[in-house]
Amino acid sequence: MTEKTIITGYTLPELEEWATGIGEKPFRARQLYQWIYQKNARSFDEMLNLSKDLRKKLAETAALNVLSIDRKMVSQKDGSIKYLFRLHDGLAVESVYMEEGGRKTVCLSTMVGCPIACPYCATGSMGFKKNLSSGEIIGQLVQIRRDLNVRVSNIVFMGMGEPFLNYENVIKAANIMNSELGPEIAARRITISTAGIVPAIRRFTHENHRFKLAISLNGTTDLQRDELVPINRKYPLNELLAAVRDYTKKSHRRVTFEYILIAGFNDSADDARRLTGLLGQIPCKINVIPYNENEFLPYRAPSEKTLNDFLRHLYKAPFAVTVRRSKGQDIAAACGQLATRTRNRFTRAPRLTSSGPLQNIV
Ligand code: SF4
Repeated sequence: MTEKTIITGYTLPELEEWATGIGEKPFRARQLYQWIYQKNARSFDEMLNLSKDLRKKLAETAALNVLSIDRKMVSQKDGSIKYLFRLHDGLAVESVYMEEGGRKTVCLSTMVGCPIACPYCATGSMGFKKNLSSGEIIGQLVQIRRDLNVRVSNIVFMGMGEPFLNYENVIKAANIMNSELGPEIAARRITISTAGIVPAIRRFTHENHRFKLAISLNGTTDLQRDELVPINRKYPLNELLAAVRDYTKKSHRRVTFEYILIAGFNDSADDARRLTGLLGQIPCKINVIPYNENEFLPYRAPSEKTLNDFLRHLYKAPFAVTVRRSKGQDIAAACGQLATRTRNRFTRAPRLTSSGPLQNIV
């Protein structure tokens, strides 16, 4: 028996080419595309504007490889919903749905595990398992839309994994999300967040994508970032900020810096001053995110006083500063926490400071 073609994750031109290859007209591809990405179909049987014969033929030749919901947890504190999805190969990834101020946001994973191995991150402690395919990335969104029956307005690639180490699949999935016959999410509402993969930032700049760019900065010195975001040893701060500066110049877009505030590590007045110096010339805004503690990891959340002091020191900075509270603290909503907890029911506690397979990095 010939293997079925997995068509979830195909762009419209790819689907047209495939449909033509099995003897169908290109307009069938448009119908399929809408069923998969807009109407969130789980099977060919649901595609009622296709004839019974065609549905049978599709079921024999193609597969949708729909993700299944393994666990779903709703936060009693803020209503955010965390999903643990089971992939077809048995591995699992997490996604989070959040509502705030009219925005309906989904945070997506791009890998199982992550090779960057940031020691403050639960995903980083898992090691790297694999890159998600474009179908597995968009499949998370499709299943959340279907499960909640909502029209998602915003996407953030801030779940498990480093999106820019899975560049092609992430950009492909983002393009599908943005497409007219797909979920049709505006490009400016799709944010790709990177720990600082400089060649990929330069490629993103060169390719002139309209998606938003966010950088996980998390430190104001190479010493801090070397510990907290180990990829910094390969792409230090000056190289990272030069690439970001070039991006803002070429794209005329603002960039967002994420700064996870950790008690006693990067929360001093000197850090705030250095931050102003480093980012002062870059059109940007900064999200300060008080660290979300994980019982298995050694870092601690800052007190409210420390947070307020830090913000006061940034008062005169030339960029906008916002505080983003981690959602779903009662449901382990920070990236990788649910997957590592689920895993820890079966295995020992995760490593705290693995260096990960850095050789896989661009
Ligand atoms: S914070 Fe992001 S880049 Fe760092 S280990 Fe976690 S998933 Fe990977």
